[in-house]
Amino acid sequence: MRPPRTPAQNAMYFLAACILLGCALLISYSIDSWRQQQLIDKLRDEIERVPEAEPPETGEVEIPRPAQLMVLFPIHWEDFRRFSSAFGERNNPLSPSAGGENVEDHGGLDVVPLDTVWNARVRPVAPGEITIHWPPKGRPVPGYPGLTFSGDEERGAWIEILHDTGWRSRYLHLSWTNPDVVHEGARVGVEDMIGRVGGSGLTTGSHLHFELVNPLGERVNPLLYFKQPEEGK
Ligand SMILES: [Zn+2]
Repeated sequence: MRPPRTPAQNAMYFLAACILLGCALLISYSIDSWRQQQLIDKLRDEIERVPEAEPPETGEVEIPRPAQLMVLFPIHWEDFRRFSSAFGERNNPLSPSAGGENVEDHGGLDVVPLDTVWNARVRPVAPGEITIHWPPKGRPVPGYPGLTFSGDEERGAWIEILHDTGWRSRYLHLSWTNPDVVHEGARVGVEDMIGRVGGSGLTTGSHLHFELVNPLGERVNPLLYFKQPEEGK
């Protein structure tokens, strides 16, 4: 039988456990920030290729050159963790099929913030005018006591902004929209917080579904139009 541990031994075991835990946390944090840096570097490569791209053929509507169209990322880079779904064709995540018969056209980019950020802030990607606002389900309708907004079953709480270039941006599945700045017809700038990321509507989890729409009404791949991620922005 082993002799009982002395208080000094107990203290040493405790200290060793603390050091091990600290190391594990530090390593997982380093891996996370390394992964995020990789992703941002990859994005930077993708974004740099854009100026070489030809503007799309458009008939009568004139579309400004891409350099004029560069927009901000819809959440702050420091809050960004990963993309959960790219723009384009994908197997429907709500009812996936092995044979690919349930492939859908995903018209936006799904942005997931860091777990440590509670309902990350959403900002307009460029200045513009709010053209559509579906407030979160259950929010009281101003001026009508007892009435509440019903919400959008699929998109949840969401906002559309019309920009000066004629392009539109859309922000879906929000948990909250900012009643101080978000009203249909109101003008918003990039410094405004228009809402917070959430999981309202039809989703598999909390994320921002972001869409960019050109003046022809076509949804385009937003990854081709983001400005360079600047440090801390
Ligand atoms: Zn989506």
